[in-house]
Amino acid sequence: MSLKLDGKKLSLEIEAKLKNYISSNRKIAKRVPGLAVIRIGEDPASGVYVKNKEKACNRVGINSFIFHLKDNVEQKEVEELIKKLNLDNDIDGILLQLPIPKKFDDQRLISYINPSKDVDGLNEKNIGKLVKNEPAMRSCTPAGIINLLRSQNITIEGKKIVVIGRSLLVGKPLSLMLLNLNGTVTMTHSKTLNLDKVCKEADILIAAAGKPNLVNSSFVKEGAVIIDVGIHRLESSDENKTRLCGDVLLEDVITKVFAYTPVPGGVGPMTVTMLLVNTIFSWQKQFGLSSTLNDLLP
Ligand code: NAD
Repeated sequence: MSLKLDGKKLSLEIEAKLKNYISSNRKIAKRVPGLAVIRIGEDPASGVYVKNKEKACNRVGINSFIFHLKDNVEQKEVEELIKKLNLDNDIDGILLQLPIPKKFDDQRLISYINPSKDVDGLNEKNIGKLVKNEPAMRSCTPAGIINLLRSQNITIEGKKIVVIGRSLLVGKPLSLMLLNLNGTVTMTHSKTLNLDKVCKEADILIAAAGKPNLVNSSFVKEGAVIIDVGIHRLESSDENKTRLCGDVLLEDVITKVFAYTPVPGGVGPMTVTMLLVNTIFSWQKQFGLSSTLNDLLP
């Protein structure tokens, strides 16, 4: 039977460690960690993600500050808010919830975030350090995937790894992190020819294309590990109900693989957990606290 890489379970285990870490260090720091989340506009999925992040902060003892801005604010106003939060001593992490309405320049906004508070790891300084394989804040979804693999002692070094997707949010930073860990990485995208054949070479296949059920058994080598980053809400046959699915047609590949991530309950919870880890990491650095959480940072 294939092994389920249970992101929900692992995230709860890590959260327990984080909670413990905060409660044993809050006296030294004289305050708990603080995370600011900026949401712009009314995208309903973003609303759900922000709520989940707020709840996760509450569970471990991080103060969350939610700034929900109307989409008629100007770019300049958001930049000013980020500058203010950069200087705020109660804030260790700043996250811009993506996507934001098209009239904003999201990359410019991210470039305003102080790199040491850039808990999404998307600021060009942190991306540059990732390219150079130097320690820095790492983006949450890729870092969560690496922790999931490590939790089951799945070796990255020397493995053939295919990543589907080359976005700044997932595909590119993930490919770089895996390369830094000595994987032999192939990054693929919407213009890749013979995608199924390329994927079939992989010992570890990671799907982050944002296309429901793109990956079927013809993409998968016997005994491979398959990680599904995609998350899609589809109509269910039961009226008024929706169901979640990923980029992988799980029922088609499950008997073939050594290990897989479910959707939901795989990569998603780990993404939120890594946001907490990054916020606490920034807090730890600011107050020179003991660094017992370093093994969570790829
Ligand atoms: P994106 O749209 O920015 O990028 C998608 C990438 O996939 C692009 O590089 C594109 O070239 C490639 N692609 C698209 N269609 C393809 C195809 N048919 N074949 C091969 N490559 C193809 O998306 P993203 O932000 O990287 O997110 C990808 C998916 O992961 C989405 O479903 C998103 O919702 C999900 N996601 C999940 C989490 C999580 O925590 N679980 C976090 C971030 C993103």
